[in-house]
Amino acid sequence: MTVKVAINGYGTIGKRVADAVTAQDDMEIVGVVKRRPSFEAFDAVKNGYKFYAAAEEFIEGFRQEGIEPAGTLDDLLDIADIVVDCTPKKAGYKALYEKKGVKAIWQGGEKHDLTGLSFNSFSNYEDAIGADFARVVSCNTTGLCRTLWPLENEWGIENVLGVMIRRGADPWDSKKGPMNAIEPVLKVPSHHGPDVITVMEGLDIQTTAVAVPSTLMHLHSVVVKLKKNVPTQDVLDLWEKTSRVMFVEGKYGVKSTAQIMEIAKDSGRKRSDLFEIAVWKDGVHVVGDTLYYYQAIHQESDVIPENIDCIRAMCNIETDKWASVEKTNKALNLE
Ligand code: NAD
Repeated sequence: MTVKVAINGYGTIGKRVADAVTAQDDMEIVGVVKRRPSFEAFDAVKNGYKFYAAAEEFIEGFRQEGIEPAGTLDDLLDIADIVVDCTPKKAGYKALYEKKGVKAIWQGGEKHDLTGLSFNSFSNYEDAIGADFARVVSCNTTGLCRTLWPLENEWGIENVLGVMIRRGADPWDSKKGPMNAIEPVLKVPSHHGPDVITVMEGLDIQTTAVAVPSTLMHLHSVVVKLKKNVPTQDVLDLWEKTSRVMFVEGKYGVKSTAQIMEIAKDSGRKRSDLFEIAVWKDGVHVVGDTLYYYQAIHQESDVIPENIDCIRAMCNIETDKWASVEKTNKALNLE
């Protein structure tokens, strides 16, 4: 069975989900949607995606720029099994998807309440099997789940304190900041901890956040009180065998997010994406029952594998989470 996937919102996340779907053998892109003929619209056409306008009123704008849409979002939803909504938060398409009887996945900018089901592959794949609506949690939350879930599963977690050092904007975004300042998020705890709980129910986690003038990656400084004393080496061994987590090492010159993104560029992956969460191996320390570590998140791409797994679960093409994770990893060539 090949699942027919529509992408609504062909931007940072949408174009990556489209390419990741195309790399799988059990799903295909039947069309992508935008409102305006920006450079990404031309990119979509060049990539061979069937192009649809968000609504009738946007068709003329595309025609004037030489793009002939195959129809509107409404038409696309008639032929899609599932839509991955990658529009900016609160774009408000839920009623339309419901009316069209099409399954839908939203991204982390939306609130949990929109779907009542948030998703992370490791934490709660099973909850999404056959579901109609789900939200893949944000890039930061996905990063936290990737390293916390194995710890919880293996030894149990007493509590977590995470400091999210957030990139000010995506690299392409010349409008947002801060540009020359460090900006604490004064709402404490930040939304990230509660967001983790939407997929790791009952976890005792608090987070704070700070935005910094960098566009490359987010960085997390995490302190975890485990339910038992564990040697540092055991934590390293656990993450070594954890999918979608990779180690980087300061002793080999990887001192910052700049070198991590250089590694991503050297990998030759499209857009220099780094789907894995990068943990500093020589920054992992356990003192008694308390684990300290740093990890870096490529915000533009870490949620992409989760979107693929979520499609598989919701469309009932794979009920075994590790089988889906493995299939996605293989197709995207990731650790
Ligand atoms: P983006 O601005 O890069 O892309 C959004 C796309 O949607 C653009 O192509 C825009 O033209 C299109 N669009 C805007 N309004 C539309 C509408 N009403 N109908 C159809 N298309 C519309 O945004 P993004 O960064 O890809 O974010 C999308 C979602 O992913 C948000 O929920 C965001 O919070 C989440 N997310 C973003 C990142 C990130 O770092 N960029 C990481 C994880 C999750």
